[in-house]
Amino acid sequence: MTKIHVPADHPRKDSLDIRERIIEGHEKDIVATAGLLAHGRGEAFDYMIGEQTNELAHMACRAAVAALLSAKHPIISVNGNICALVPRDLVELSELTGAPLEINLFYYRAEREEAIATALRNAGATEILGTHDRPSETIPELSSNRRKVDSEGIAKADVVLVPLEDGDRTEALRKINKYVVTIDLNPMSRTALLSNITIVDNVVRSLPLMVEYAREMRDWSAEQLREIVTGFDNAANLSKALRMMIDYLSGQAGIGPVEEDET
Ligand code: ATP
Ligand code: MG
Repeated sequence: MTKIHVPADHPRKDSLDIRERIIEGHEKDIVATAGLLAHGRGEAFDYMIGEQTNELAHMACRAAVAALLSAKHPIISVNGNICALVPRDLVELSELTGAPLEINLFYYRAEREEAIATALRNAGATEILGTHDRPSETIPELSSNRRKVDSEGIAKADVVLVPLEDGDRTEALRKINKYVVTIDLNPMSRTALLSNITIVDNVVRSLPLMVEYAREMRDWSAEQLREIVTGFDNAANLSKALRMMIDYLSGQAGIGPVEEDET
């Protein structure tokens, strides 16, 4: 299929360019067909935050980076969509935080694993965990393909970054005492609710932002980092994120922001 050229003056150029990256990823076997649907759902939620990174997402990104930097064994779980959208930022974040990249796919096919590994290598990755030739273990209480994890990666990790995750796996990871960090535009998804830290933002904006924060915070003391992590309240953050969406939509509808509950 020929790649569509989006004219520079198209009002939705950025969004269409990102969509093209996902379509291209699908053609290369990186993105699963279901990944196209997941992306569309993300686009809809992005509209509801005005397609911009807000202050809440900034706070969550900082806390997420602090959690990765202060972990003993941090890991970044990679699926098709995140690989198609921000491969270079994944590699850079991995290098800055010392969190290896582990391929973990819901719709596993050897061709997909290979396509994703190739894309990560092309983006500069030198070490990739989770491939079929690696030692593996299984996560109990998870029946999908994703229960198979790398013995040196997710299996032994204390902090797991799982961008664009499915709720079932988030739940399984929490049950085995992993500290879960996610990026999910839907503040009501099971993933968003079950994670320790949820960044409600588009990965195309939040991954580069996490790289920036990692550069800034990499030399901070363990105490400084821990303070940020323990000071983060995910339930409160999600509630505010949802409130921001309501206010944004109210603004669009011309009915003004929703009043804070006095009680
Ligand atoms: P859950 O299983 O957690 O309840 P779900 O079944 O509604 O969620 P999934 O298809 O499992 O959704 O996961 C995809 C999630 O990723 C959706 O919540 C979607 O909004 C979000 N998403 C898709 N694209 C992006 C993106 N580019 N950036 C951030 N989030 C995204
Ligand atoms: Mg799901």
